[in-house]
This record gives sequence, structure tokens and C-alpha cells, in this order.
Amino acid sequence: MGLRQPFIGRVPLVSGEIGEDFANYFLVSEQIPSLISLGVLVAPDLSIKAAGGLFVQAMPGADDKVLEKIERQVFSLGPISYLLDKSSSLEEIMEQIMQDIPYKLVGEKPLQFKCNCSHERLARIMASLSSEELQEIEASVGKLEVCCNFCNEVYGFTQEEIATIKKQKP
Ligand SMILES: [Zn+2]
Repeated sequence: MGLRQPFIGRVPLVSGEIGEDFANYFLVSEQIPSLISLGVLVAPDLSIKAAGGLFVQAMPGADDKVLEKIERQVFSLGPISYLLDKSSSLEEIMEQIMQDIPYKLVGEKPLQFKCNCSHERLARIMASLSSEELQEIEASVGKLEVCCNFCNEVYGFTQEEIATIKKQKP
């Protein structure tokens, strides 16, 4: 979310089924009724045939009857991984779920995991440490590793780089 600290919300697990636990999280922690269906279809040779999910959230003022109908239709279609495997496009799945409920496709984009951290960004954060803290780091180890709290990427800083950061400090 671009905050200084990672955003953390906690709720107890209710089922151990990841989709149901996510839906419970959105309902309890964020007060948003949600439907989450996740699945992975594994082929006999153990390769992944299809994997994906469906995430439906009610907008404020959404009609409960429409939400119930969407929920019924999602569950009547069976596991999402089979749907993904059988269908030629996501829109085809959308049509099967929505049936006679009018809808508008507002966008489509590929999903990817992306963190906006970088070596440069972490160097700037290091520069915000006090000279004493940097001195301590320099004295303790020859090489410094900083781990991004958001994506777990580890960035290594050499003693020379720490020295450069120190020089840039007023
Ligand atoms: Zn990161």
C-alpha cells in the first residue's frame, strides 16, 4: 500500500481452506462481504494443468439477492480450477457465473507479483539511519544485508557502499 510499515490485519483461521479463510478475513477485518474461490488442478504427471481464483467483493449498496445469486452460481459450477481448465477465456467463465445478471467488463490485465523495492531505494533508507547506527553496522560486519519486509528480497551492501552512504550524509 506504499506505507512506511507493512499493513497488517489479523483474524483467526476458520477453516484451513485458504479461500474461506481469506473471505472471513475480508468480512471480519475489513467489513466487506467477499467470495473467494481458489484452486490448482494437478495433472497425473504432477504438472499444473490450471491454477487460479475468483475474488468477488460487494460494492456498497449491492443488492443482497444479486450477491446470493452470484454465490449460488459460482458454487454450482464446481471447482474453479476445472472451470479454468475447460474454458477458453476468463470472459467465458464470467458469462457462466453472471448468466442473466447484467454486467460490464471494465478492464483486464495480467497479474504479477511486484514490489517497488530496489537497491537504490534501500540505500536511501539506509541513508536515513544516524551516523552512529551506520558506524555500528560498519564495525560489526564487512558486508550488510537488508531484507525487504514486503517481498523478502535480500540486498547486499558492501563496506564501500556503506562508506558512500555515510559520505552523503550532512
Ligand atoms: Zn520488496
